[in-house]
Amino acid sequence: MVICPPAIDPADEMSGPRAVPQDDCTGASGPQNRLMPFDDALATGLGLAARPVPMETVALSDAVGRVLAGRACAGSPMPAFDHAAMDGYAVRYSDLAGPGPWTLELNGRAAAGDAPLPADAVATGAAVRILTGAPIPAGLDTVIMQEHAARSGNRVTIADRPRQGANIRLTGEDAAIGATVVAEGTLLGVREIAALASIGEAAVDVRRKLRIAWFSSGSELREPGEPLAPGQIHDANRYTLLAALDQPWIDRLDLGTVPDTPRALTDALIDASHRADMVVSTGGVSVGDEDHMPSVFREAGGDIRAMRIAMKPGKPLAIGRMNDAVYLGLPGNPVAAFVGWLTIGAPMARLMAGFADVRPPRHFARLAAASSRRPGRREFRPARITGRDDNGVPRIELLGSSFSARIGLLCAADGLAVLPADAETLDADTVVEFIWL
Ligand code: AMP
Ligand code: MG
Repeated sequence: MVICPPAIDPADEMSGPRAVPQDDCTGASGPQNRLMPFDDALATGLGLAARPVPMETVALSDAVGRVLAGRACAGSPMPAFDHAAMDGYAVRYSDLAGPGPWTLELNGRAAAGDAPLPADAVATGAAVRILTGAPIPAGLDTVIMQEHAARSGNRVTIADRPRQGANIRLTGEDAAIGATVVAEGTLLGVREIAALASIGEAAVDVRRKLRIAWFSSGSELREPGEPLAPGQIHDANRYTLLAALDQPWIDRLDLGTVPDTPRALTDALIDASHRADMVVSTGGVSVGDEDHMPSVFREAGGDIRAMRIAMKPGKPLAIGRMNDAVYLGLPGNPVAAFVGWLTIGAPMARLMAGFADVRPPRHFARLAAASSRRPGRREFRPARITGRDDNGVPRIELLGSSFSARIGLLCAADGLAVLPADAETLDADTVVEFIWL
């Protein structure tokens, strides 16, 4: 653990002069450099990922965090019988004739777990002491709350006329026989596990865990904790993925850090493609001399479908397939790798894992100040919430404009503002999509 001197907020540096040139927003001109629109890239990735992994059956107690493979439906009505919703007294509504109050004799008791009292058990004009969850005795149709009745010995007096059918939960009112209780492709969380238990599912059909293998590439990379020689850096991306992939529906296969040599990269890619449903690499997908990934990938038999995406950060991002595995080549810059995973990789993984909803939920925020930018790429800009408008919509401040390597800025952000590719100026108060982090 490092002891830090007093904090400098990375976001406070955003407006100062920058030594580093801004990212190129458009790329060089010429057809070979044309960027694929972000939506097309995502559609390409989803097209490759549109084959969910097979299903398997697990015990209900092991199903939390897994993805439901078929719809779960009620095999019997929910609830299965009419029962009391309150502690009180069950009566026949028709016995409360004329003006009240009415005094009724108690003819028995029904508690949760008791079998229903038969039709002849309760005489006309009599009531039954009933407790929440108990079956309604045959012939009775209304439950008076205990708080609205006065008991004296074996009699009960009711002052006010109830609504007929009050305080009874009816058979099937939650779900009729055959009704969908949990839809296919749902992540099984607390609510779904509760619903599956209540319909009596002891074993659940879920998608088998999606196997994702990943490695980072770069001869400059060292493990956190390892001392750095000049020119070396710690590997952030492998840990970004380690954390992002820590999901109960994913089987993680960390293949380590691979140096920038074609041989090592080829071995890593082929090995990964045989062991996983999805292979993710970081680094080496750009156009530098040491960016071997695309050529190595093709030479090893892979098929690349998208390579240069109109997004910022993360323009160099490869989407393809090798053997039976789907491939995502993320850029090396850590924020770009993170954004590429979040916006393209995660939806692809979710689709393969069997999720019905694969895109992140849509939220919106208002720009606190006007902003101008170079158009051409959809931008996912770290942003911080500074307040809310009268409707509670967050107001956001955009953080540094050149940020693909600034992981500290990501930590200072509340989310990513999504700035449309073609927008050159954005007025203050403009509503933009906002991805919460
Ligand atoms: P590349 O995409 O390989 O050209 O890398 C772009 C930049 O990201 C370079 O400055 C790399 O040193 C840096 N980088 C690449 N991989 C990682 C990583 N795993 N962790 C941190 N930085 C990285
Ligand atoms: Mg590199």
